[in-house]
Amino acid sequence: MTKSILAVTMNPSVDISYPLETLQLNSVNRVTEVTKTAGGKGLNVARVLHQLHSPVIASGILGGTIGQFIEKKLDETKIKHNFMPINQESRNCIAILHDDMQQTEILETGPLLDEQDEANFLIHFENSLDNISVVTISGSLPKGLSTELYTKMIEIASIREIPVVLDSSGKPLKVSLSGRHKPFLIKPNQEEIAQLIEKPIHDLVELQEVLTINSLFKGVEWIVISLGADGALVKHNEEFFRLTIPKIDVVNPVGSGDSTVAGLASAIAAGTDDVEVMKTGMTTGMLNTMEKQTGFINNELFNEYYQKISLKKL
Ligand code: ADP
Repeated sequence: MTKSILAVTMNPSVDISYPLETLQLNSVNRVTEVTKTAGGKGLNVARVLHQLHSPVIASGILGGTIGQFIEKKLDETKIKHNFMPINQESRNCIAILHDDMQQTEILETGPLLDEQDEANFLIHFENSLDNISVVTISGSLPKGLSTELYTKMIEIASIREIPVVLDSSGKPLKVSLSGRHKPFLIKPNQEEIAQLIEKPIHDLVELQEVLTINSLFKGVEWIVISLGADGALVKHNEEFFRLTIPKIDVVNPVGSGDSTVAGLASAIAAGTDDVEVMKTGMTTGMLNTMEKQTGFINNELFNEYYQKISLKKL
C-alpha cells in the first residue's frame, strides 16, 4: 500500500475574501464577489501535495458548521481528511481587499481548547500514523493547548521513525527545537529565524554562523531558510547550500512557504536525493507565487521551473 503524507493544521479556518472598491468605515459595505476557501497553512500544504499527486491526508482539529464547510471543500477536491471533531466552531478569517490593493484582515482566534482536548488529540494523532511516510505540522496552536504539543507529536512520530516537517514560529517552534526528539526538517523564513534567536541577522554569513553554533539547531537534519525571491539557504546535516531562483512575475506570494513545505515533504516521502528535495521545495514555492489562489500550483509548469533553479554548495 502506498504511504501518505499527514498534513496537520491545528487551527484551520474558512478564509473569506471580500473585494471592495472602497471600504467605508461606520457604514454598510455590500459585496458580491465573495470567495470562501478552506484555509490554514497545513491545508495549503495538503492542497499542493494533492496537486503534486502525492497521496495526502489532512488532519488537525475541526468543529461546527465551519468545520463541516472545510470538510466539504476538501471532499470536492478529493483530498482525504481525518480531523478530530470538537464541540466548538472552527474559525473564519476575513480579508477585505480594497482601495487599490489594500488588505484589511479580521482574524478570529478560533476555539478555546483544554488539556482534555490536547490528550484526545494526541491519541487521535497516534492512531492516524499507520501507513504515513512523513508528517507535516504547520501554523499556530489554538488557544488553550500547551506550547509543548508539537514536541509531543514529534516524539510520537519519531518513535515510529516517521520524519516530521515542522513549519511553525515563536514559542511552539522554540520549544520543539529544545526537545529530546528533533523535527526532521524546519522551514523558517528569515524573520522567523531572527525571532527565534531573539536578535537580528544581517546577512547570510551571519545566518550560517547562527545555524552552526546555536544549540537549538543541533540534531535537526534539514534547516531550510526560505528567502522569498532570493531562494533559500539550506543546512543539511553539517553542509550548507545556497539555492537561487529566476526572476518571475509574481501574482500572489501568500502561501509560498506552505507550498515549499509541500514540495520538500513530497520529495522526502518519495525518497529522492538531497538535491531533488531542495529543488522541489523551491519549485513549488515559486509556482505558488504565479497563481492567484493561495496554496495552489500549476503542476504542468513544474519541470520548466525546476530546471531554472541553481544550487551551490557553500
Ligand atoms: P514564507 O511564505 O514562509 O515567508 P518565502 O516568502 O520565503 O516563505 O517563500 C518560500 C519560497 O517561495 C521561496 O524560497 C521561493 O522559492 C518562493 N518565492 C517566494 N516569493 C517569491 C518571489 N517573489 N519570487 C520567486 N519565488 C518566490
